[in-house]
Parts: sequence; structure tokens; C-alpha cells
Amino acid sequence: MSLIPVLPLFLELNRQYFQNSLLENEVPRVSLRWSDGRMRTTAGIYRSKTNFFGVKASEIILSRPVLEHLPHKALMSTLCHEMIHAWIDLVLKVEEAHGPNFHQRMAEINSAQTDFQVTVHHSFPLTKKPPKWVATCPSCKRTFSYRRIVSGAACRSCCNNYFGGRWDQKCLLEFEPLSKSNK
Ligand SMILES: [Zn+2]
Ligand SMILES: [Zn+2]
Repeated sequence: MSLIPVLPLFLELNRQYFQNSLLENEVPRVSLRWSDGRMRTTAGIYRSKTNFFGVKASEIILSRPVLEHLPHKALMSTLCHEMIHAWIDLVLKVEEAHGPNFHQRMAEINSAQTDFQVTVHHSFPLTKKPPKWVATCPSCKRTFSYRRIVSGAACRSCCNNYFGGRWDQKCLLEFEPLSKSNK
């Protein structure tokens, strides 16, 4: 799945399962966006803030790293889950996480179609970023894996053994891309 516009899906779900209650004067009452690459621990979130003037702003953020490689139904399920939160907050105006209103609406939506299933927790396999770099200590030849180059990183045990625990240039790790060193 690539990054597709979320608004048409939102409008469709809103019409089918929320009686258009998440639109106000044709405008979604909650803003929608994809996350950048950092949101890795959950597939989606709903949040709302009331500003100084008492105006409430709500948004649904969908995780690009979690959802981009999953089938379309994972996106639908996540979006719908977050829309239930928005509906509870903005329409019912109730403070509730995954309580009775959530469960009831989720059950209604799940029994109304077979395209996707809303769950209480987004149970998708989370993709872990594999390490890209291997760092080698020039003196003891021990290797460490890193996700990115950490400049100035030194071998702790060699610094301890030879330099009284102080950082020394001679223990500076040498970084190499992991794929190269595997061959
Ligand atoms: Zn939730
Ligand atoms: Zn070392």
C-alpha cells in the first residue's frame, strides 16, 4: 500500500457508519493526516486539544511506517477505530477510551460489513528498522550494530581497559554499511 488520500475513506466511513455526524458544514470535524516516519509504536491515534479561546481542535494521525506496507483493510480498520474515538469525543461528548460506547459502535460496524474488522487494539506487526551499520573497534575488533552513524562513538571496554575509562581517539569505532560487511 502506498500513501493514499485519507479524506475519501473518511467521508465514506462517516456516511456509512456515523450518520455524517463527523462533518460540519461539509468540513470534517477532525483533521486527518499521515505521520512522518517516526510514529512506529501504534497504527493510529486520535487526539484533541482545547485552546486558550475554548476552541477544540481534533486530529487523527495515521502511522505511515506501520500502515504503508499493510493491506488496505488495515488502514480501514485503523481509520475507523480512530473515527469511533472522534465520534465519542465530538458527537457524544463523553470521556471514554475503549468503553461501552466504543464497544457498541465497533460491534455495529463489524457486523455491518465483511471488508475489515475494527479491533480494540491495533494488532499489526510493527516493523522494526533493521540496523544499517556495523561499527568495529580498531583495537579489540569487537563489532556493534547501529541504525545510524554515531560520530565519536568509542569502544567502551577498550577505553576502560587501556585509558582508565576515559574516551580516547584510539578506541574510535569504524563504521561500515552492514550489507557490505556481510559479504
Ligand atoms: Zn483506541
Ligand atoms: Zn575495543
